[in-house]
Amino acid sequence: MEKREMLYEGKAKRVYSTDVEDVLIVDYKDDATAFNGLKKGTIIGKGVINNRMSNYMFKKFEAAGIPTHLVEEPSDRAPPVRTPKIVPLQALTRNVAGGRSTTKLGIAEGTKLLQPTLEFSYKNDALGDPFINDSYALALGLATQEELDRIAELAYKVNEVAKAYFLECGIDLIDFKLEFGRYQGQIILADEMSPDTCRLWDSKTHEKLDKDRFRRDMGNVEDAYHEVFHRIGLE
Ligand code: ADP
Ligand code: MG
Repeated sequence: MEKREMLYEGKAKRVYSTDVEDVLIVDYKDDATAFNGLKKGTIIGKGVINNRMSNYMFKKFEAAGIPTHLVEEPSDRAPPVRTPKIVPLQALTRNVAGGRSTTKLGIAEGTKLLQPTLEFSYKNDALGDPFINDSYALALGLATQEELDRIAELAYKVNEVAKAYFLECGIDLIDFKLEFGRYQGQIILADEMSPDTCRLWDSKTHEKLDKDRFRRDMGNVEDAYHEVFHRIGLE
Protein backbone atom coordinates (compact mmCIF):
# COMPACT_ATOMS: atom_id res chain seq x y z
CA MET A 1 0.00 0.00 0.00
CA GLU A 2 1.27 3.45 -0.89
CA LYS A 3 0.83 6.82 0.77
CA ARG A 4 -0.61 9.47 -1.53
CA GLU A 5 -1.45 12.99 -0.34
CA MET A 6 -1.69 14.23 3.23
CA LEU A 7 -5.40 14.81 3.88
CA TYR A 8 -5.00 16.49 7.26
CA GLU A 9 -2.60 16.96 10.04
CA GLY A 10 -3.79 16.87 13.64
CA LYS A 11 -1.88 17.51 16.83
CA ALA A 12 -0.59 13.93 17.14
CA LYS A 13 -1.06 12.30 13.74
CA ARG A 14 -0.97 12.88 10.01
CA VAL A 15 -3.58 11.21 7.84
CA TYR A 16 -2.75 10.24 4.24
CA SER A 17 -4.83 8.87 1.41
CA THR A 18 -3.53 5.68 -0.23
CA ASP A 19 -3.76 3.90 -3.55
CA VAL A 20 -6.49 1.72 -2.00
CA GLU A 21 -9.98 3.14 -1.98
CA ASP A 22 -11.45 3.81 1.44
CA VAL A 23 -8.15 3.11 3.20
CA LEU A 24 -6.02 5.74 4.91
CA ILE A 25 -2.59 5.64 6.47
CA VAL A 26 -2.14 7.27 9.86
CA ASP A 27 1.32 8.51 10.72
CA TYR A 28 1.82 8.98 14.47
CA LYS A 29 4.07 11.88 15.48
CA ASP A 30 6.32 12.38 18.49
CA ASP A 31 4.79 15.86 18.91
CA ALA A 32 2.96 16.41 22.17
CA THR A 33 0.47 19.15 22.94
CA ALA A 34 -1.63 19.92 25.98
CA PHE A 35 -4.18 22.50 27.11
CA ASN A 36 -5.63 22.73 23.63
CA GLY A 37 -2.27 23.26 21.96
CA LEU A 38 -1.00 25.98 24.35
CA LYS A 39 1.77 23.70 25.60
CA LYS A 40 3.94 22.07 22.97
CA GLY A 41 6.79 19.58 23.15
CA THR A 42 8.22 16.31 21.93
CA ILE A 43 8.02 12.91 23.55
CA ILE A 44 10.73 10.86 21.86
CA GLY A 45 9.45 7.49 20.67
CA LYS A 46 5.82 8.34 21.38
CA GLY A 47 4.68 7.94 17.77
CA VAL A 48 5.78 4.33 17.58
CA ILE A 49 4.52 3.48 21.07
CA ASN A 50 1.10 5.07 20.59
CA ASN A 51 0.63 3.48 17.20
CA ARG A 52 1.61 -0.01 18.30
CA MET A 53 -0.29 0.18 21.58
CA SER A 54 -3.39 1.48 19.86
CA ASN A 55 -3.37 -1.32 17.29
CA TYR A 56 -2.76 -3.88 20.00
CA MET A 57 -5.68 -2.66 22.10
CA PHE A 58 -7.96 -2.25 19.05
CA LYS A 59 -7.31 -5.92 18.16
CA LYS A 60 -8.47 -6.91 21.62
CA PHE A 61 -11.57 -4.77 21.14
CA GLU A 62 -12.27 -6.43 17.78
CA ALA A 63 -11.98 -9.82 19.47
CA ALA A 64 -14.57 -8.64 22.02
CA GLY A 65 -16.99 -7.73 19.21
CA ILE A 66 -16.26 -3.99 19.03
CA PRO A 67 -15.92 -2.85 15.39
CA THR A 68 -12.81 -0.69 14.79
CA HIS A 69 -11.06 1.07 11.90
CA LEU A 70 -8.21 -1.50 11.72
CA VAL A 71 -7.73 -3.14 8.36
CA GLU A 72 -4.68 -5.38 8.46
CA GLU A 73 -1.38 -6.14 10.16
CA PRO A 74 -0.14 -2.65 10.89
CA SER A 75 3.33 -1.27 10.38
CA ASP A 76 5.46 0.35 13.06
CA ARG A 77 4.41 3.89 12.55
CA ALA A 78 1.83 4.13 9.82
CA PRO A 79 -1.01 1.61 9.94
CA PRO A 80 -3.65 1.45 7.24
CA VAL A 81 -7.14 2.17 8.57
CA ARG A 82 -10.66 2.37 7.22
CA THR A 83 -12.09 5.76 6.37
CA PRO A 84 -15.09 6.44 8.54
CA LYS A 85 -16.63 9.88 8.76
CA ILE A 86 -15.51 10.93 12.23
CA VAL A 87 -18.37 11.88 14.57
CA PRO A 88 -17.30 15.26 16.03
CA LEU A 89 -17.75 14.08 19.61
CA GLN A 90 -15.16 12.80 22.02
CA ALA A 91 -16.50 10.11 24.34
CA LEU A 92 -14.87 10.36 27.78
CA THR A 93 -15.23 7.42 30.15
CA ARG A 94 -14.09 7.60 33.76
CA ASN A 95 -13.58 5.02 36.50
CA VAL A 96 -11.74 7.29 38.93
CA ALA A 97 -11.87 11.10 39.26
CA GLY A 98 -9.08 12.88 37.35
CA GLY A 99 -8.54 15.75 34.94
CA ARG A 100 -11.42 18.14 34.34
CA SER A 101 -13.84 16.11 36.49
CA THR A 102 -11.91 17.14 39.62
CA THR A 103 -12.03 20.87 38.97
CA LYS A 104 -15.54 20.84 37.51
CA LEU A 105 -17.14 18.85 40.34
CA GLY A 106 -14.75 19.53 43.22
CA ILE A 107 -13.91 15.88 43.79
CA ALA A 108 -10.40 14.89 44.84
CA GLU A 109 -8.23 13.33 42.15
CA GLY A 110 -8.16 9.57 42.70
CA THR A 111 -11.68 9.31 44.15
CA LYS A 112 -13.10 6.00 42.96
CA LEU A 113 -16.40 6.50 41.16
CA LEU A 114 -19.22 4.14 42.18
CA GLN A 115 -19.83 3.31 38.54
CA PRO A 116 -18.20 4.30 35.24
CA THR A 117 -19.30 7.66 33.84
CA LEU A 118 -19.64 8.76 30.23
CA GLU A 119 -19.59 12.33 28.95
CA PHE A 120 -19.12 13.97 25.58
CA SER A 121 -17.05 16.87 24.44
CA TYR A 122 -17.56 18.63 21.14
CA LYS A 123 -14.48 17.95 18.97
CA ASN A 124 -13.60 21.52 18.04
CA ASP A 125 -10.08 22.86 18.60
CA ALA A 126 -11.11 26.51 18.21
CA LEU A 127 -13.54 26.11 21.12
CA GLY A 128 -11.22 23.94 23.21
CA ASP A 129 -13.34 20.76 22.92
CA PRO A 130 -16.11 21.97 25.30
CA PHE A 131 -18.38 19.61 27.18
CA ILE A 132 -21.65 18.91 25.41
CA ASN A 133 -24.63 16.73 26.33
CA ASP A 134 -26.91 14.48 24.31
CA SER A 135 -29.59 17.09 23.71
CA TYR A 136 -27.11 19.60 22.27
CA ALA A 137 -25.47 16.88 20.15
CA LEU A 138 -28.94 16.08 18.75
CA ALA A 139 -29.97 19.73 18.39
CA LEU A 140 -26.79 20.57 16.47
CA GLY A 141 -27.14 17.48 14.28
CA LEU A 142 -23.77 16.08 15.39
CA ALA A 143 -25.22 12.57 15.81
CA THR A 144 -28.56 10.78 15.99
CA GLN A 145 -30.00 9.29 19.19
CA GLU A 146 -29.31 5.83 17.81
CA GLU A 147 -25.68 6.76 17.18
CA LEU A 148 -25.31 8.26 20.66
CA ASP A 149 -26.74 5.08 22.20
CA ARG A 150 -24.37 2.91 20.18
CA ILE A 151 -21.38 5.10 21.04
CA ALA A 152 -22.28 4.83 24.74
CA GLU A 153 -22.66 1.06 24.49
CA LEU A 154 -19.30 0.69 22.73
CA ALA A 155 -17.48 3.10 25.06
CA TYR A 156 -18.64 1.14 28.13
CA LYS A 157 -17.63 -2.10 26.46
CA VAL A 158 -14.18 -0.73 25.60
CA ASN A 159 -13.92 0.29 29.25
CA GLU A 160 -14.66 -3.23 30.48
CA VAL A 161 -12.16 -4.86 28.11
CA ALA A 162 -9.39 -2.29 28.60
CA LYS A 163 -9.84 -1.94 32.37
CA ALA A 164 -9.58 -5.72 32.87
CA TYR A 165 -6.55 -6.03 30.60
CA PHE A 166 -4.64 -3.10 32.11
CA LEU A 167 -5.34 -4.45 35.60
CA GLU A 168 -3.62 -7.73 34.64
CA CYS A 169 -0.64 -5.56 33.69
CA GLY A 170 -0.60 -3.74 37.04
CA ILE A 171 -2.20 -0.58 35.64
CA ASP A 172 -5.41 1.17 36.74
CA LEU A 173 -7.43 2.69 33.90
CA ILE A 174 -8.54 6.00 35.41
CA ASP A 175 -10.22 7.50 32.33
CA PHE A 176 -9.87 7.68 28.53
CA LYS A 177 -11.09 9.46 25.39
CA LEU A 178 -12.46 7.71 22.32
CA GLU A 179 -13.50 8.88 18.86
CA PHE A 180 -15.97 7.05 16.67
CA GLY A 181 -16.85 7.22 13.00
CA ARG A 182 -19.65 6.25 10.62
CA TYR A 183 -18.68 3.51 8.22
CA GLN A 184 -21.00 1.57 5.94
CA GLY A 185 -24.01 2.33 8.06
CA GLN A 186 -22.48 1.45 11.39
CA ILE A 187 -20.54 3.16 14.16
CA ILE A 188 -16.92 2.00 14.44
CA LEU A 189 -14.15 2.87 16.88
CA ALA A 190 -11.51 5.11 15.27
CA ASP A 191 -8.54 7.24 16.29
CA GLU A 192 -6.36 5.82 19.08
CA MET A 193 -6.02 4.49 22.61
CA SER A 194 -2.64 5.33 24.10
CA PRO A 195 -1.01 7.10 27.06
CA ASP A 196 -1.90 10.32 25.19
CA THR A 197 -5.62 9.57 25.44
CA CYS A 198 -5.86 7.60 28.72
CA ARG A 199 -5.02 8.25 32.35
CA LEU A 200 -3.05 5.20 33.48
CA TRP A 201 -1.77 4.79 37.04
CA ASP A 202 0.45 2.11 38.52
CA SER A 203 -1.99 -0.07 40.48
CA LYS A 204 0.26 -0.26 43.54
CA THR A 205 2.08 3.07 43.75
CA HIS A 206 -0.52 5.16 41.84
CA GLU A 207 2.35 6.69 39.88
CA LYS A 208 1.09 8.41 36.74
CA LEU A 209 2.09 6.63 33.51
CA ASP A 210 0.46 8.92 30.93
CA LYS A 211 0.39 12.37 29.34
CA ASP A 212 -0.33 14.06 32.68
CA ARG A 213 3.46 13.77 33.26
CA PHE A 214 3.92 16.07 30.24
CA ARG A 215 0.98 18.36 31.13
CA ARG A 216 2.30 18.87 34.65
CA ASP A 217 6.05 18.86 33.92
CA MET A 218 6.54 15.85 36.16
CA GLY A 219 9.55 14.48 34.24
CA ASN A 220 10.25 10.92 33.06
CA VAL A 221 7.60 11.24 30.36
CA GLU A 222 9.34 8.92 27.90
CA ASP A 223 10.02 6.40 30.67
CA ALA A 224 6.33 6.32 31.58
CA TYR A 225 5.25 5.67 27.97
CA HIS A 226 7.87 2.91 27.69
CA GLU A 227 6.75 1.42 31.00
CA VAL A 228 3.16 1.12 29.79
CA PHE A 229 4.33 -0.31 26.47
CA HIS A 230 6.46 -2.89 28.27
CA ARG A 231 3.82 -3.80 30.86
CA ILE A 232 1.10 -4.48 28.32
CA GLY A 233 3.46 -6.99 26.70
CA LEU A 234 4.98 -5.00 23.83
CA GLU A 235 8.71 -4.55 23.35
P1 ADP B 1 -6.39 15.97 16.89
O1 ADP B 1 -5.38 17.07 16.86
O2 ADP B 1 -7.75 16.38 16.43
O3 ADP B 1 -6.41 15.19 18.20
P2 ADP B 1 -4.91 13.73 15.79
O4 ADP B 1 -3.56 14.25 15.41
O5 ADP B 1 -5.02 12.92 17.05
O6 ADP B 1 -5.95 14.93 15.77
O7 ADP B 1 -5.49 12.83 14.61
C1 ADP B 1 -5.68 13.39 13.33
C2 ADP B 1 -7.10 13.25 12.87
O8 ADP B 1 -7.33 11.92 12.42
C3 ADP B 1 -8.19 13.51 13.90
O9 ADP B 1 -9.07 14.50 13.40
C4 ADP B 1 -8.90 12.17 14.04
O10 ADP B 1 -10.27 12.33 14.33
C5 ADP B 1 -8.68 11.60 12.68
N1 ADP B 1 -8.85 10.15 12.53
C6 ADP B 1 -8.48 9.17 13.39
N2 ADP B 1 -8.79 7.95 12.88
C7 ADP B 1 -9.36 8.16 11.67
C8 ADP B 1 -9.90 7.32 10.64
N3 ADP B 1 -9.90 6.00 10.76
N4 ADP B 1 -10.44 7.91 9.55
C9 ADP B 1 -10.44 9.24 9.40
N5 ADP B 1 -9.92 10.09 10.33
C10 ADP B 1 -9.39 9.56 11.44
MG1 MG C 1 -5.99 13.34 18.83
